[in-house]
Amino acid sequence: MTPTQVDIGRNQHGTGRPAWLAPAAAASLRRVDHARGKTTQVNWAGRSEAEQFALVKKYYVRSSWGEFKYDGSWWRKKPGSRVVVAKPTTSPHEPGNALDTDEWTVPGFVALMAEHGWIRTLKSEPWHFVYFASRDKHRNDPPLSGDTAAVAPPKPKEIKVKTYHYQDKDARDAGRTIKPGAGFYLHDKAGLATSQAKNVVGGVGPYSITPHVYATGTPGDVVELTLIWQATKAKPVKNSTHYVERLVVDKDGQIRASREFKRGVAAGDAVFVRIDAPKTNKGPVTVSLLDCDAYLFMVA
Ligand SMILES: [Zn+2]
Repeated sequence: MTPTQVDIGRNQHGTGRPAWLAPAAAASLRRVDHARGKTTQVNWAGRSEAEQFALVKKYYVRSSWGEFKYDGSWWRKKPGSRVVVAKPTTSPHEPGNALDTDEWTVPGFVALMAEHGWIRTLKSEPWHFVYFASRDKHRNDPPLSGDTAAVAPPKPKEIKVKTYHYQDKDARDAGRTIKPGAGFYLHDKAGLATSQAKNVVGGVGPYSITPHVYATGTPGDVVELTLIWQATKAKPVKNSTHYVERLVVDKDGQIRASREFKRGVAAGDAVFVRIDAPKTNKGPVTVSLLDCDAYLFMVA
């Protein structure tokens, strides 16, 4: 796995390439620099597994026996060499949690580093510091100026609302009478078959969708108001019923109802509004208004 690499704004002494650390270690080193009022010198910080292996090849030889096995072989120190190199995949440099610096000889430096969670773990390498977040007394310090978090607080986001309004043309013009067991979809064009449906939404995002129904009929009869999401790009096209609301004809023979539904619309979705009269109705229901307001909420 490649660790997240934060460029620490200085070059590795050895390679001249930009030095990097893991995010928490990089943030800590920034606090160390800030406390010292200078940029801490770094020979090595983060190191890839390939770079670690290159070090192994520099100081170690393949052998029939050795200190660790890697790349299909045992490896041992070259004769006369005293440099210790960790097995690739095991060095804390590889996840970006270690740095080597010549400044370990500067009075007070080791103590300051320790206060910030940087501990020397190898007696043989007094320049080698490993970062332990749990030992960093400053990890919850407020961000330094210049840290992204402190530079620009995010702007409050503005919500824009887009409105879609559709009305069933036949219901408005002459009323649509539905017998028990029949139904129709809202459509804004006249004279279409009851199977023809108008998509009542436009863009993609969170919606508030409110159909309005005026109807007359036999008191106690009902109509079912249904919202159907259609995944138009699915093969085959897929319809999902998400809301069914029973509206009852009152004692005066009326239905006057608005119902709000809240649900998101995804790319490729169409939304249809349908009215059905169940077979158990005693008489026909005449719908004189079926319209729909859909509000799409967009973050500007
Ligand atoms: Zn080191």
